[in-house]
Amino acid sequence: MKLSFNEGTTWESASLQQNLELCEKYGYDYIEIRTIDQLIDYLKENTLDDLKEYFDTHHIKPLSLNALCFFNNRTKEDEEKVIEEFKEYLEICKKINCEYICVVPSNIDVTEKGKTLTEEVNASCVRVLTQLSDLAEPYGVKIAIEFIGIPQNTVNTFAQAFDIVKQVDRENVGLVYDTFQFTGMGSRFEDVTDDAAEKIFIFHINDVDGFPVGQMHDTNRVWPGHGVIDLEAHLKRLKELNYDFAASVELFRPEYYQMDPEEVIKKAKETTLEVLEKYYK
Ligand code: ZN
Repeated sequence: MKLSFNEGTTWESASLQQNLELCEKYGYDYIEIRTIDQLIDYLKENTLDDLKEYFDTHHIKPLSLNALCFFNNRTKEDEEKVIEEFKEYLEICKKINCEYICVVPSNIDVTEKGKTLTEEVNASCVRVLTQLSDLAEPYGVKIAIEFIGIPQNTVNTFAQAFDIVKQVDRENVGLVYDTFQFTGMGSRFEDVTDDAAEKIFIFHINDVDGFPVGQMHDTNRVWPGHGVIDLEAHLKRLKELNYDFAASVELFRPEYYQMDPEEVIKKAKETTLEVLEKYYK
């Protein structure tokens, strides 16, 4: 299993350049690049050629662009904007040899007025993802949908996301399996069936403070092994599915943003490896 760093972990404390240097120093294999802020900031003073040059001359490689946000159940005009943004991401992937783009489903107003039937959510996801799949195909880029384990997200369980991926039925469309998102809305291991094996593209590892289902927030994430998630059960299941690609540590805890990013990157690696070592080398 390769080790990856998701930039959300030092989102408020480090730049992309710092993350690259520190992840390289501590031996990470991959980085997930935050396109919505850290990459934008990086490109104010650097170019994509600089980024490519860094990856070409160092061990660390790009795992994904993270993330294309809120792609489903949008107005026609907003959907067109999302698709234009996706096209830009494809060009970035091509430039820096990045294989994956993570995509995040829309949040919605959960009052009677705003909420949408699952059927309509899934139909919108399938339609847009099919279009993105066509666009990504000539680039050799894969799309990983990340269900978000909070009540207001339109795709908030493993089962729903996997159902959408199966309906899309394209080789280049799969899932992000995130242990926090899985726990957040009480996703079930029994839904991680054997046919999920080839559809789990990216694995986000983390832990969370113990709150009831539906009340866990990104800011409650803690170092792997320091919270209430049964990470051993997740790793056991992933191992059974022969998943052996990359574990990407992804935390969003305000206290960790107050720490020296070097300490965070070091500690994130240590705590992740400690949890992984029972099942993976
Ligand atoms: Zn995630």
